[in-house]
Amino acid sequence: MQHVASLESSVLVLNKFFMALHIISAKRAFVLLCKETAEVISVADGKFNSYDFGGWKDVSLYKVKSGLPEEGTTSWIRTVSFEIEVPKIIRLLFYEKHPRSNVKFNRRNIFARDENKCQYCGRRFPTTELSLDHIVPKAYSGKTTWTNIVCACTDCNKSKGGRTPEEARMKLIRKPVKPRHSPILSLKLRSDRYHSWKQFLDEAYWSVSLK
Ligand SMILES: [Zn+2]
Repeated sequence: MQHVASLESSVLVLNKFFMALHIISAKRAFVLLCKETAEVISVADGKFNSYDFGGWKDVSLYKVKSGLPEEGTTSWIRTVSFEIEVPKIIRLLFYEKHPRSNVKFNRRNIFARDENKCQYCGRRFPTTELSLDHIVPKAYSGKTTWTNIVCACTDCNKSKGGRTPEEARMKLIRKPVKPRHSPILSLKLRSDRYHSWKQFLDEAYWSVSLK
């Protein structure tokens, strides 16, 4: 069994009606489980079971004791007295609001949309080494919108300066668009680890993000 201490792994959050809302860290998920405002949804062979925190702890204990083979897509948290598997999905027991239909315009989503690639040189960088660039500079009345903001590395940002790409003779690797679905979710879904999330996302989502 693979033991990966991973309070940072991602957990899909469902509302009371099993509709996908957003993604949170394992740490945050455990807080909600301990507060008993959420339960674990565990998917196996297309069926799912729900567990409260105590029940999930028992399931984890059973897995540890029986040494069930894992497919390498689970993470575990070790505490002083027990080990517990990081759930992949939790359901908020009392939250009835529906998922937002609009993707939030923020740094995190822009980085995810651009896959942490500088949109001028095409190279991938850690978030800390990327900045957000106004394609048409603010000084030229460029707006702060999905279609005018892209990730740029320090070097490209410097050589572009306060100019338009045409003026700086630089080309974007692709035209920025407003994403129809959460770009963070789309990135995660490429990994086997988050395979079980699929059934909680609607058909329309899939036809777009699995291309
Ligand atoms: Zn660059």
